Amino acid sequence: MSVENQPRSVSQTEQYEKCGWRFYLQRVERVPPRPAAWSFHGTAFHSAAEAWERSSRTLEADEVTELFHEQYTGMVNEALAEEPNTDRWLAAGRYTGGEDIERRYVLGMDQTAAYVEWSKANRPALWTEPNTGGPALELSFMVELGGVKVRGFIDQALEEDEGKVEDEDEVRVRDLKTGTMKSKFQLQTYSVAMRKQWGVKVNRADWYLAKTGRLSRPVKVDQVSEDEIGQRFADMDAGVKAGNFPANPGFDCNFCDVSHGCIFFSSKT
Ligand code: SF4
Repeated sequence: MSVENQPRSVSQTEQYEKCGWRFYLQRVERVPPRPAAWSFHGTAFHSAAEAWERSSRTLEADEVTELFHEQYTGMVNEALAEEPNTDRWLAAGRYTGGEDIERRYVLGMDQTAAYVEWSKANRPALWTEPNTGGPALELSFMVELGGVKVRGFIDQALEEDEGKVEDEDEVRVRDLKTGTMKSKFQLQTYSVAMRKQWGVKVNRADWYLAKTGRLSRPVKVDQVSEDEIGQRFADMDAGVKAGNFPANPGFDCNFCDVSHGCIFFSSKT
């Protein structure tokens, strides 16, 4: 499907808003992106946490960390086969690409073990997805917002207030985060999508922050309207269809995985 007609997502929209040219290079020109250990770290942590929850919390902690190990090393090795020079890998802060690969392995293993401990202690009440009768993990949605088809995956949906809220149809959206960038737009979109696709109430959303091993404060999403969220998708969709990809060089160029193919690159800090 051509990029003009694809369903949109939160990450596509945020990428387009931050730098339209990056969107263009990645999704139209298909410039091969440079690998980043942070991306494998996030994916492997999510998979391990999901497997733990799907096992109804019966796996041993070391079985869950083993899943992180397998996923992370598998993805890193695959990327190393494509790009063996770790100096070309993206890395944040003072770390080299090679150091970041090592450090995120240790971090991810610790964070996975900490998630298991946290989940055992807090027993988050996962909502039951009515169509499958299974726990609300990695919920896939496709809804229309602002006249645009939007799709995504919601990490977790919980019964609000640990199942104590009288209204059984009220759920809370939760996103698991290994990085520091938190997107309110993401929680807002997912909350609106849950209302639309599953007809439930969503008044609050939050993040599980792997960095601290805790939940964030809840974000109120009861006032978020479909129109307000839909407008951002509509604007982005119209921009892409019009072939409008404005470059926005600046700080984010340091974290851009297609900067090697960009004529506007600026290493401003
Ligand atoms: S290097 Fe900077 S200007 Fe170029 S695409 Fe990436 S973020 Fe945009």
